[in-house]
Amino acid sequence: MTRYFLLAFLLVLSGCGGSSDSRALKNSVAALQEKALQDQTAWILLESLTTEVGSRMGGSQGDAKAVTWARQKMKELGFDRVWLEFVEFPRWVRNSETGSILGNEAIPLDLTALGGSPGTSGLLQGEIVHYENLEALEAATPEEVEGKIVFISERMERHQSGAGYATVRQRSRGPFVASRKGALALLIRSVGTDYDGVPHTGMISGSEEGDPVPSAALSHPSADHLAQALAAGVPVSVEMNLDCGFEGKAVSQNVIGEFDGSGDSGEFVIIGGHLDSWDLGTGAIDDGTGVSITMAAAKLVADQETRPPRGIRVVLFANEEQGIYGGKAYAVAHADELDTHIIGAESDLGSGRIYQFKSRVSEESAPLIDELTKLLSPLNIPYNRESQASGGADIGQMRKLGMAVIDLNHDASYYFDLHHTRNDQLDRVNPADLQFNVAAYVTFIQWAASTDAKFGPVPTSE
Ligand code: ZN
Ligand code: ZN
Repeated sequence: MTRYFLLAFLLVLSGCGGSSDSRALKNSVAALQEKALQDQTAWILLESLTTEVGSRMGGSQGDAKAVTWARQKMKELGFDRVWLEFVEFPRWVRNSETGSILGNEAIPLDLTALGGSPGTSGLLQGEIVHYENLEALEAATPEEVEGKIVFISERMERHQSGAGYATVRQRSRGPFVASRKGALALLIRSVGTDYDGVPHTGMISGSEEGDPVPSAALSHPSADHLAQALAAGVPVSVEMNLDCGFEGKAVSQNVIGEFDGSGDSGEFVIIGGHLDSWDLGTGAIDDGTGVSITMAAAKLVADQETRPPRGIRVVLFANEEQGIYGGKAYAVAHADELDTHIIGAESDLGSGRIYQFKSRVSEESAPLIDELTKLLSPLNIPYNRESQASGGADIGQMRKLGMAVIDLNHDASYYFDLHHTRNDQLDRVNPADLQFNVAAYVTFIQWAASTDAKFGPVPTSE
């Protein structure tokens, strides 16, 4: 505890007038923020990724093209080292998908297969059995469900933090629960907050027992049509034809770039996002923005006349969408390098302006968070101490091993309007929001790379 109080004391001192170190940090951060708010790099990268590469589902041709793109762009940006690390996973393909409500006049359904779903092996017809949420399906008897097509209709709520995404359990677990009760197939209301008539895809769980039933998400209007048909109290049948499924193995790469620091400790700050996307849109907000924000921020910090002592590592993770394959492979490959991985942060919640930050650092280094709070205050990004940072899906794999992490939380109010749909396109991104987010990231990087304090290890966790 002595060290804790000494640090706190030093920070109090620096707060009231300031050591030259903390003044220098404050000045360099102010200059970096100003530059970031004018900088076009992130936008140029995002425009290039979404138009020249486009969709890049793990294992697809677009994915391979994205790896080549990322490596080339990192070299052009002047990263000191760029390399690839191999990632393997099962290949899932989507060929075609249709569905309709049967009746005197069939009503077409806007649907899309869930990632990891098996196909229907041709046209599948069945009567609908409806549940308000996954819990209601779990409580149902097999007799109610057997031989039917289950429809789960829980609606996701809009929230700044994205907390409404908890309804994702109907997507991740629904296909397995329906299967265990003898259902033919599953339809869910899309896990999204729009009313645009576009279905939202996304992965089914990789950790449930048994085989899932063929499963698809309906757009909100289609889910409402189906609910209205059922409200009449007479049996409703639908037909669906999903041509999709797993086909052997695929490989991709984590693309890694590093800027050296001015010191020789070998330590670095790690940031990144995931390079893959779903196939329906061009992955502008998921996660093109994370890719471009972190690449642009690293470059701005490295381009200063004097670099901070620690280096910066940017990791663009492979196939996050289908099971965090890149993040898990990275953690396996680098598990014994926690001493050099000083602290990490991941951007994977769209382009909304960062509105708060959280931390998960050792108790000893906690006073340094006050310094980051001050540095982020010109951007109106307060510290949320109510819950701890996760590090995101990919970088969170290193957090589980004890690496310190910071979450720079994006405003997710509108993220789930577009998430995993064909509307996830460049035109939905505001360039000024990207610049703002780069300003937050340069602040974090410069703060963590300028000190020699250790932020970890933190208690390991699941
Ligand atoms: Zn994502
Ligand atoms: Zn996603």
